[in-house]
Amino acid sequence: MPKVKSTCCYCGVGCGVVIETDDGRITAIAGDADHPANFGRLCSKGATLHLTAGTAGRALYPELRRSRSEPRRRVEWDQALDHLAARVARVILEHGPDAVGFYISGQLLTEDYYVFNKLVKGLIGTNNIDTNSRLCMSSAVAGYKATLGADSVPTCYADIEHAHCLFIAGSNTAYAHPVLFRRIEEARRANPAVKMIVVDPRRTDTAASADLHLPILPGTDVALFNGMLHVMVWEGRLDRAFIEAHTTGFDALKEAVQEYTPKTVAGLCGVPAEDIVQAARWFADSPATLSLYCQGLNQSSHGTDKNAALINLHLATGQIGRPGAGPFSLTGQPNAMGGREVGGMANLLSGHRDLANPAHRAEVARLWGVAEVPATPGKTAVEMFEAARAGEIKVLWIACTNPAQSMPDQALVRAALETAELVVVQEAYRDTETAAYADVLLPAATWGEKEGTVTNSERRISRVRAAVPPPGEARPDWVIAVDFARRLEWRLRFGNRGEHFSTLFPYRAPEEVFNEHRETTRGRDLDITGLSYALLDALGPQQWPFPAGAARGAERLYADGVFPTADGRARFVATRYRTPAESPDARYPFRLNTGRLRDQWHGMSRTGRVARLFSHEEEPLLAMNPEDMARRGLRDGDLARVASRRGAIVVRVKASEEQRPGQVFLPMHWGSRFMAGHGTNALTVSVFDPTSKQPELKHAAVRVEKA
Ligand code: SF4
Repeated sequence: MPKVKSTCCYCGVGCGVVIETDDGRITAIAGDADHPANFGRLCSKGATLHLTAGTAGRALYPELRRSRSEPRRRVEWDQALDHLAARVARVILEHGPDAVGFYISGQLLTEDYYVFNKLVKGLIGTNNIDTNSRLCMSSAVAGYKATLGADSVPTCYADIEHAHCLFIAGSNTAYAHPVLFRRIEEARRANPAVKMIVVDPRRTDTAASADLHLPILPGTDVALFNGMLHVMVWEGRLDRAFIEAHTTGFDALKEAVQEYTPKTVAGLCGVPAEDIVQAARWFADSPATLSLYCQGLNQSSHGTDKNAALINLHLATGQIGRPGAGPFSLTGQPNAMGGREVGGMANLLSGHRDLANPAHRAEVARLWGVAEVPATPGKTAVEMFEAARAGEIKVLWIACTNPAQSMPDQALVRAALETAELVVVQEAYRDTETAAYADVLLPAATWGEKEGTVTNSERRISRVRAAVPPPGEARPDWVIAVDFARRLEWRLRFGNRGEHFSTLFPYRAPEEVFNEHRETTRGRDLDITGLSYALLDALGPQQWPFPAGAARGAERLYADGVFPTADGRARFVATRYRTPAESPDARYPFRLNTGRLRDQWHGMSRTGRVARLFSHEEEPLLAMNPEDMARRGLRDGDLARVASRRGAIVVRVKASEEQRPGQVFLPMHWGSRFMAGHGTNALTVSVFDPTSKQPELKHAAVRVEKA
């Protein structure tokens, strides 16, 4: 049978896969033994990818409705795209370019992302393009930039084998990044002296296997990290030489953490003071400490502070730039990092440039061949839906993501989708919650059907390859964006349908898009001018930076102690503990945490089609401490009504010793397709971090009553 090497489309581990086909159909999947992210391993989701490859639920042809009172009807591609070009051009002419917003996805390929970003910022002339990566990694980005000077993960997967202390914070790695967790287990088996500390309010499978579990109260991470630094200062466990030679701002931070004594922090975090001291000692004294962290730190109204406070610990102890040492943000989505590389967010520009920097805007305008890139920051995810609800954004174009399931505060999101004059949904599946709101549905190719690249958590760029043609009339996302862009360019320039010729969007293949993106990285921290499709095909996946003339990419960064800041020094950031946006009270006494299950992915548009993936958890269950259940007269399996200030849903309750009293947990995956109400995110909060603009999906105050 023909076999094609590609990359898993789920999490940021970025496992290599081998797709087997028969007669134009995907029939089997195996791990790619040559891929350095997984060496042949796959988790339950990756191993069942072939079972998601049929046409069930797929969008197969363009659909259009001219008024909300009509159903959508099948149309030709030309008809759909001409209609969109005319309507979007009219909105731009009547209301200005900021009346248009694009909400795209960390599951798009880098080439898709690049074209969308150029279309919005270079042609339409607005920065209103943001992605579901805003819900995922933007606090990690802001934390890296504040401390290390650039959005560059300094570590790599091989550091797991070199580490002597693994500090896992806000990550159930065993569920969310399973192949990486197998690697952690192996490293611990090979060296039983390795210490593993897990910081998580829940006793997850990851926490249960730790040498030290710190079940902190939700949202108290900054207090914990400051407390650990206090111990390191008090007990003289700092790397003074590193601080002196390679950092700035330590004195202010030292002053700030004075008040975070172990006793004070124990009170704030709800963990024993001696455990805080123990964690500080293991972290500082280990020959190499590697931190692994994810949404527990990022999805917070002070996520940037949480990230910075953790990186402070690495800088204070010199635990960075050496094998096995450094901060390592685990990417949630398969290509959140690739999207940032091309600047596909409201505040970023191509090649890790900043929108706020006039020189960077001028560089990108020159590279793209446009007069200018607008200076006004675009609306970020939550802001975009708020602006649509307020009637400021008239056109919402949504690609490869399902905000009517995945965004917090679903009442807000659905009001926005109803208020917008034109909702375009570019999707592989026609039965998602968001597709129901589409005025125009554009069928997109998906995994196994399209070509391009993605970048995983360790800066490794892998090829994604097509094994079969897309079904029906579905097209690759970059093709759809280019076909629309050519029409819109003609409309804006000449006011008619024209010939669709374009100098801005001349691409005939994804490789041409990649090559243009590559040129925007020249001389930047992520320089990939030494890479090409041919080299990736010949040598396999590569890490960036990989500048022209290099023989290989950089395994880890900052080994020389020089950081990409103006003075070459990393910066300590003095952070203070703040409570989450919404505190429990008498009406809403429980803290709701949301997160992933082992066998499901995001809104289940793909994993929800594989029966065997429901054998782990068949339905969304509210995990609750047995004492809390007894007090409310609830028994295992009872239906309970869970209500927040924004909405309510009914789910079954599961007694769980993983939960501390006063806290409950719900998986994030189920939306309104699977349950009454608007799913888990009917309850969550849209309040976001002031710097990263990432919403606090992991903490809301709720009430639980017998239904
Ligand atoms: Fe796919 Fe992530 Fe599982 Fe690897 S660990 S197979 S990338 S879902």
